[in-house]
Amino acid sequence: MTEHLFNKILIANRGEIAVRVMRTAQALGIRTVAIYSDADASALHVQQADEAIALGGVTAAESYLDMHKVLDAARATGAEAIHPGYGFLSENAAFARACEDAGIAFIGPSAAAIEAMGDKASAKALLADSGVPLVPGYHGDEQSDERLSAEAERIGYPLLLKASAGGGGKGMRIVLSAATLHDDIAAARREARSAFGDDRLLIEKYLIRPRHVEVQVFMDSSGNGVYLFERDCSVQRRHQKVIEEAPAPGMTAALRQRMGEAALAVAQRIQYRGAGTVEFLLDANHEFFFMEMNTRLQVEHPVTEMITGVDLVYWQLRVAAGKGLPDGVSQQSLPINGHAIEVRLYAEDPDNHFLPAIGRLTLWQAPELSASVRLDSGVQQGDEVSPYYDPMLAKLIAHGRDRTEALHNLRTALAALQVDGVKTNRDFLLRLLSLDAFARAELSTDFIERNQHELTQPLPTRWELAALTELLLPTLASQSQSQPQPQPQAHDPWYADGFQSALPAQRVLRLESAVGDVLRARARANEQAHGLDRNQSWNLLLADHSVQVQGRLELNSQAGDIRLLQLEARVNGQLQSLPLALSEHELLLFLPQGSQRFVRNRWLGEQAQEDHGGLTAPMAGQVLEVRVQPGEQVKAGQVLMIMEAMKMEHSIRAPQAALVQAVLYQAGDQVAEGTELLQLEIMAEADAENAAEAGA
Ligand code: ADP
Repeated sequence: MTEHLFNKILIANRGEIAVRVMRTAQALGIRTVAIYSDADASALHVQQADEAIALGGVTAAESYLDMHKVLDAARATGAEAIHPGYGFLSENAAFARACEDAGIAFIGPSAAAIEAMGDKASAKALLADSGVPLVPGYHGDEQSDERLSAEAERIGYPLLLKASAGGGGKGMRIVLSAATLHDDIAAARREARSAFGDDRLLIEKYLIRPRHVEVQVFMDSSGNGVYLFERDCSVQRRHQKVIEEAPAPGMTAALRQRMGEAALAVAQRIQYRGAGTVEFLLDANHEFFFMEMNTRLQVEHPVTEMITGVDLVYWQLRVAAGKGLPDGVSQQSLPINGHAIEVRLYAEDPDNHFLPAIGRLTLWQAPELSASVRLDSGVQQGDEVSPYYDPMLAKLIAHGRDRTEALHNLRTALAALQVDGVKTNRDFLLRLLSLDAFARAELSTDFIERNQHELTQPLPTRWELAALTELLLPTLASQSQSQPQPQPQAHDPWYADGFQSALPAQRVLRLESAVGDVLRARARANEQAHGLDRNQSWNLLLADHSVQVQGRLELNSQAGDIRLLQLEARVNGQLQSLPLALSEHELLLFLPQGSQRFVRNRWLGEQAQEDHGGLTAPMAGQVLEVRVQPGEQVKAGQVLMIMEAMKMEHSIRAPQAALVQAVLYQAGDQVAEGTELLQLEIMAEADAENAAEAGA
């Protein structure tokens, strides 16, 4: 990839697709120009570009959708070509034409080809006599209620009303029977008008449980084209893709060829140029029907790249520069190598109808990337996720020799991706990938609805791991203090570094989950454990059972006040390794099944600030004096214990009138930060008054 294509191109987009296009262009020695709105001034795509032009404005309409501003930016920087990415201006025929008029290459098809496919109804009309199978339906110009009703009767129920000008799943309505048709037509028209400024509708037979299978095509300017096989995008939420994979499971060579050739026929019909996708619905009998053609690079193009080894953006740049497909490329030469699966990570709240979420990404740590794990991301830690644009943050894609391996690689990588600060669908995706139905490739467009029950089951809280983390925390402090660091023995993950000797032999932990469940756990260090690691192994008594826990905690990095740690845990002999994020008041475990949040040091947080007291040790230190005994009644504010830490004394006071239940440490004991020192039973007000009177 060293030949000369362009000196400089402008990328008329933002986020992950802008970054992804830059990667290929820069590898080819092409200078890249980014554009950005006021909300994106410090965005990743701006930082990665060789030059960047501020468009001003924050909304899409004021910035990325304003074609005059975009063209001005291209002229001002001398960009010879514009890559539109997907969304925004990518399927805007007027923009493609304006580029042509300005003498700037539009990296995409001709304006005429965009127009031909831009309208679902006219696209179907165009293909009516092409031999490409269409979903049975009506896509005529006549839009009267009478005509639509008559066509609905002919087609039969259930049926689907779609906005002719539609896209992105908007303006679609399923109609189950004639009884509601009238109202549904009116509503679909309203939706279509408000979303697309165009209320024309088309009607399709509503296929039951089809799969969404689409074909990637690629044409050069002289009408030569190939298909780069299919992608299955059946896992959708409200008609929006969530997981995509290539090749489609269960395809036969014959069906692949028929669909591929049908897709090429569609592209040839409109003298297509560049990368395009022809979308089909595939039914259980392997019958397929044309839905629409997307005249741009798709979000899910990486899965195709991974199984074919083709860089589609490189091909786009070649064709836009007037060259053909790379030498030696023919339909026969294209391989399918293994399997690839992609998940789309959105800033959205699965617990609140998947509404877009905004906020600051306080944590964003990518998994380890490799030839088989790819992350196309538009964000970095610390970014502000704004409400102005599509909420997609990134795509994670994994490859494997077969589907099972690709799925394993993707799950592993997604489990290692750590994100916090903004709500995301990360855990939802992990659950999808963990479903047996997904492993068995039982794919259809209602996959998520069908598996709703399992997707919404709460995860059992992993108290053991939260407790183990708290127990191991003091070893971290010693790790960073001890100079030089002792090297663990490579062959033994449980080899102790000798810093644990100060750990207390007994601890009581108060654990609190993010949903407010509280658990007291009692930990006793195991004496019988071999060698130096006696304190790294505990017998943990939880509410109703006891477990053996053992582990080590390592600091990976620090992001502000968040420490990123890796926990190697053995719970009742079962090994697991997981990343976690820890701050003074929160613990976030990234388990393979999803993340779990715990609240830490609630007493410390609420009480310590006021009176520097509390029932947990505010920091590692020594107990100097114990002033109460179990069974004693204490008043609010009464000093219960005195601790010394960092050469300062701290009084541990009763937060309220209470009954002392247990005194967990004695004078002279060393305690770790956060260790619970005493247990109190808070007394009701009346009891406290009685007690006070009795005592008086
Ligand atoms: P949009 O352009 O708004 O994304 P599409 O026409 O591409 O709409 O359809 C999106 C999704 O809606 C498809 O992937 C499929 O799940 C569903 N769908 C569309 N047409 C039909 C149909 N006739 N029968 C059943 N499902 C359909």
